[in-house]
Amino acid sequence: MEKNSRMRREAETVEVMIRQYCHTKHEQTRNLCPECNELLLYALKRLKHCPFQERKTTCGNCGVHCYKPGMRDKIRQIMRYVGPRMLLRNRS
Ligand SMILES: [Zn+2]
Repeated sequence: MEKNSRMRREAETVEVMIRQYCHTKHEQTRNLCPECNELLLYALKRLKHCPFQERKTTCGNCGVHCYKPGMRDKIRQIMRYVGPRMLLRNRS
């Protein structure tokens, strides 16, 4: 993956979101709990196979639901929880 590409940023965003969620909700201090770790690996794998690649929007806005149902629910929950906070904090 190229540095600073959209895909790379998306991958980083997903990771940050999952980490923050796990840290807050699952009270993990350093590492992700097994469940969130699995979700992160899954998300990164989906991203790699995303048909839009550099033209994609964020997964949260994407019309193609490439996640399998269980994983989709989890990532949605995380984005809903972490998303608004992140947008506020990163706006500069
Ligand atoms: Zn967790």
